[in-house]
This record gives sequence, C-alpha cells and structure tokens, in this order.
Amino acid sequence: MTSRHRAWAGIHLNAFRKNLQLVKELAGDAEVWPVLKANAYGHGAIPFAKICQEFGAPRLGVGDSGEALELREAGIQTPLLVLGTAIDSEIPDLLEHNVEVGLHSENRAFMLAEKARKSNKPLGVHLKVDTGMTRLGVLPEAALRVARAVVAEPFLELRGLMTHHASQDGFRSATAREQDALFKKTAKELQDAGVPIPCVHSANSAALFTGNPPFGNAVRPGIALYGVLPLSLDTDSPLDPVLSLHAQVVFLKDVPAGVSVGYGGRWKSPQPTRLAVLPIGYNDGLPYRLGAQGRGWALVRGVRCPLVGAVSMDYCTVDVGHVPGVDIGDTATLLGTDGEESLTIQELAEAAGTIPYEITCSIGSRVQRIYDDSDIQPPKLSFSE
Ligand SMILES: *Cc1c(COP(=O)(O)O)cnc(C)c1O
Repeated sequence: MTSRHRAWAGIHLNAFRKNLQLVKELAGDAEVWPVLKANAYGHGAIPFAKICQEFGAPRLGVGDSGEALELREAGIQTPLLVLGTAIDSEIPDLLEHNVEVGLHSENRAFMLAEKARKSNKPLGVHLKVDTGMTRLGVLPEAALRVARAVVAEPFLELRGLMTHHASQDGFRSATAREQDALFKKTAKELQDAGVPIPCVHSANSAALFTGNPPFGNAVRPGIALYGVLPLSLDTDSPLDPVLSLHAQVVFLKDVPAGVSVGYGGRWKSPQPTRLAVLPIGYNDGLPYRLGAQGRGWALVRGVRCPLVGAVSMDYCTVDVGHVPGVDIGDTATLLGTDGEESLTIQELAEAAGTIPYEITCSIGSRVQRIYDDSDIQPPKLSFSE
C-alpha cells in the first residue's frame, strides 16, 4: 500500500519501552532519569515523556526551558531537569513550572537565588562538576564552596550533584575512569563536609553499557533508550531501534550509460540503468555528505540500492537498475528493515562521517512521525517494583 506521506519516520514506542526496561536492569538500584532533550533526540518528546511518566520515572532530562514548558503543557508532572544551564530569560519559566536546572558557578547561584526569592518560589538545582568534559560545571576544587553557597540560600534547593562524561566509549576509556574517580572524590568531600545532597548522578548511555555498576543514585541515559549506542560501542547491541525512516518512490527514469546525475554531476551512470527519485533530502535529515562521499543506501523491495549523485534539499536519487518491478509509490527505507536487509543509524552515521545522535536529531520537521505502538509486544515495566 502506498503511504499518504512523502517521507515519514516510524517511531516504535514499544521498542522504547523495551530499551527502558533493559536500561533499568543495568542501572540496578539507581534511578533511571530518561533524557528527552532535543525533542527526544528528534523523535518527538511528548509520547516518550508520557511513557516515562506512566512507568513512574522519577525525573526527566530536557535541554532548555522551552522543552520543559512543552512537556508541562502536555500534562507531564514528572520532575524535570534542564541538564545544562539556563540563560536569565528562562528563569521565570523554570520557577513557574517547577523545573530544576544545572548550576555551574557561585555567581550563578547568587543570581538564581535572587530571582527565586523575588518570585517567592524555590528553585531546585543540581551542582555540576567539571571533571574533564571542560564545558559547563565548577571545577572539583570549587565544588564544596559553591555547594555551601547554595545550601546557604533559602530559595535554592540543592537536589543533586552531577558530572558529565566526555568519553563516547564509556569506561573503556581511561579518561572516563579518571573523570569517575575525580567525581567520587568530590562527592565524598561534600559528604564529609556534611553537605546534604539527595542525589548523585553521572552515567550516560556509554557509561551504563560498559560494564561498570553506575556510581550514585541515578543514571541519565539518552541515546540507548532510542535503541542506539554511541558509535564505538556498537557491538551486538541488545537494544531495539526506535526509529525508521522512509520515503516513497515518486519518479522512475531509465538512463543510458554516461549520464550525470544531480547537482554538480557528481555521479555518472557507468551503464544503462533505472533511477528512482525519492522525496527526501538534507532538509529532512538525509545527510548531504552521503551523496558527496558516494556512500548512501536505500532499501527498495528488500534490496540495497546505492544513493547516486548529490543529496539535494528535497530529493535524492537511488539506482534501482538491479531491482525488478520497482514502481511509483514503492516504499524506500533509509533507516530500518525491509525484508532481509537493514540499514542502521550507526551505519548511516558512519557513512556520512557523523555520529548517530546527529542523524536522529536532524530528521526534519516535515517528515511525518508515525507512532507505531503495536509491532512489538509491550514488556512489563515498572520503576516502582
Ligand atoms: C545528553 C546528556 C545525557 C545523555 O547522554 P547519552 O549519551 O545520550 O546517553 C546525559 N547527561 C547529560 C548532562 C546530557 O547532556
């Protein structure tokens, strides 16, 4: 059956549920705080937030106040944490909607405290320690001072102590182990000084999947819940992919040998063949570099077909000369499974010289998200067993 859509993403919510369950098992006694930032890594945050809420996730991670507000407006009451920082203009929304935020300096603490005092509402903060990411966060040696400053402010509540890992292969990398040691040391220093910290958290997906029991009381998995592991860890992943990406064939063209295809004529047909045009381009998240590097694929009628020529804004072209019976309206799969063949996000990311995160985050707004809740049996799942 031909789809009503030009290009669409299948979003498999039961795969997300299954991944959540798996992550929960790996996390042991630690709480699982699903990360839904960047619109749930491009998947669309609200349905995922609802699933997380349904199963009693104690907290969700978001990217900014706008994302937090969107979830609140959708009826999500789960505690929310803006993982990084918030700029001044975002603070009123955080206070209004009871959203927590990462904190990374003493000055910032004073400023937040002042705003909270003025609105007569407490603000929950998680003190972020920079143990080697060198982005946001106080240096370990300043952590105790800033923590004390927070505790001294009546309108700030110190809800957590956190750090973020720079390594994309988790504890397989020495730098991750160094960061971890530094974070443990910092947490101990605060604890020994009597600073009350309800929650200590650091593990992302890579840390969780590299065999170490997570340190602290909570983990913050993102990409793993969407069924993907960071590139370097992609070995026999036990996760189910949540996203598939498709477009329908809108045009077929038989060409002789020696015809150049697309912008810049980057590809010339080596022999007579049949080309299929797909209404999906870089605006929809198909990386331009796939065409530039001549490394992209689509599945048509269960057969791998190479992307040929440049990926353009709204369209791309695939060579279907070796596939019998291709017709207008056929579904082409850019990510996912068709028959015996599969294309993974990891494979696409590698071919485009990028990371899986960028692939899912770049799926454009005009790609229809089709939430498919039925293809996998929902596992029994509960955060509060
Ligand atoms: C994005 C993010 C995560 C989740 O990372 P994954 O690699 O997707 O698991 C965890 N913590 C923080 C602070 C983040 O920004």
